[in-house]
Amino acid sequence: MKIWIDCLRNEHHLPTEAYHELLTCQDAEVTDYLHQQAREVSLTQFGNKVYIRGLIEISNCCKNDCYYCGIRKSNTHIERYRLTKEQILDCCREGYKLGFRTFVMQGGEDRAQSVDWVIEVVTAIRSEFPDCAITLSLGEMSYQDYERLYDAGANRYLLRHETYQSSHYQQLHPQEMSAQHRQQCLRWLKEIGFQTGTGIMVGSPHQTIDNIIEDILFIEQLKPQMIGLGPFIPHQDTPFAQHPAGSVELTLKLLSIFRLMFPQVLIPSTTALASLGGDGRLKGILAGANVVMPNLSPSNTRKKYELYNNKASLGAEAAEGLTLLNEQLKTIGYEISMERGDYK
Ligand code: SAH
Repeated sequence: MKIWIDCLRNEHHLPTEAYHELLTCQDAEVTDYLHQQAREVSLTQFGNKVYIRGLIEISNCCKNDCYYCGIRKSNTHIERYRLTKEQILDCCREGYKLGFRTFVMQGGEDRAQSVDWVIEVVTAIRSEFPDCAITLSLGEMSYQDYERLYDAGANRYLLRHETYQSSHYQQLHPQEMSAQHRQQCLRWLKEIGFQTGTGIMVGSPHQTIDNIIEDILFIEQLKPQMIGLGPFIPHQDTPFAQHPAGSVELTLKLLSIFRLMFPQVLIPSTTALASLGGDGRLKGILAGANVVMPNLSPSNTRKKYELYNNKASLGAEAAEGLTLLNEQLKTIGYEISMERGDYK
């Protein structure tokens, strides 16, 4: 099995059966070797530096009804909010003082925050913080709207494809959404020039190892600049409330596989990973991740952006907790980088 790992490191690709063996392998020595190889590649590419991104959750209103997501439109048990342009700019000002040079605006697909409005916000951030990267994660839009956002000064876009295979996608989403359209959006984003991120939830309901291999092959084709992976975590007020959470171990394995496939790609150690286990963040870094996205949202809205239960947003997950995050990173020999951290 170690030969496959060496092969992945050298060739950045494996035959399908080898992915299967690697993903199902239970041998701790092999897994350790996989993480170690991935870590070596990250260290060569980025040194012991971890890029930070300030996450601003701009709205928990959503027109979609994804079965896994706590802010789906059918959930009547949450208090909805949307930030104003001024609130978002205040988050950026706060973040800039703390040292952030990337702002990520994420939210539900909220019709009330029109594309014209988002363009206004992007334009304002672009003029006040010309040295910062602006990342958007606002779901599916038309080619024209993505292009207008790019022209207004947005640089990066995160849109996980969630799962490649159509029938599995349909088990996670209502009829009106489709895997094809989501993948089309990703191709548009790349074509327009965004540094584009995709990814999946690991252990989402009904997911098989073959689904994950199809995700790997899709990502291999797409060649994104960023890859986001987190374990699925149930939310009590969704149809998937009773499904078990995804595996941290499998998430970490995949993270290492992607690091070996794409040495330069930006991979966050995600909040979902941090939410499941106390040291999930650090495990992610040790498996090859090189980005963390602390929460810069106003503290009174953080709890309301509940995609899944027990989402971490305090302590080292919070933007104010950067010192704590840095101390934690130091225990494993890493430190925060204050650079903008573009894909190179
Ligand atoms: N509306 C945007 C942002 C969605 S939230 C969009 O459509 O892209 C960002 C990510 O959180 C989603 O892409 C999904 O992969 C993840 N997510 C949602 N619900 C989750 C859950 N219950 N467990 C783990 N991750 C979840």
